Amino acid sequence: MDCLFCRIVRGELPANVVFENESVLAFKDINPLAPTHVLVVPKTHLASLDDVPDDPELAGKILLGVRQTAEKIGVAGGYKVVTNCGEAAGQVVHHLHFHILAGKKFVP
Ligand code: 5GP
Ligand code: ZN
Repeated sequence: MDCLFCRIVRGELPANVVFENESVLAFKDINPLAPTHVLVVPKTHLASLDDVPDDPELAGKILLGVRQTAEKIGVAGGYKVVTNCGEAAGQVVHHLHFHILAGKKFVP
């Protein structure tokens, strides 16, 4: 798949990786909006949350990857998770990703 985050997952483009398991890769956002801003992406290409299949095992692994990333980077208990689904919501990269944001207050 010729997709920016697929290329990062494959190691074809550099990224500042902070966590990895069999299901997800987590790396620092190139344009951080908070003192901590990490993106968690599934290793398989899914365009957005809309495209997550009715597969509780896969969905659970992705969610666990988010939680495990938060633990690994030391923000457990104090972070926000955001996923933009679709261009109307501000999604720019069409490979599912969860923003982990911490270190400042956000509204809402
Ligand atoms: P979206 O708006 O799609 O939810 O978020 C895309 C995010 O990907 C943005 O926060 C943007 O800064 C980040 N981003 C875009 N290109 C790259 C890149 O090449 N490397 C990294 N690490 N982050 C990127
Ligand atoms: Zn992709």
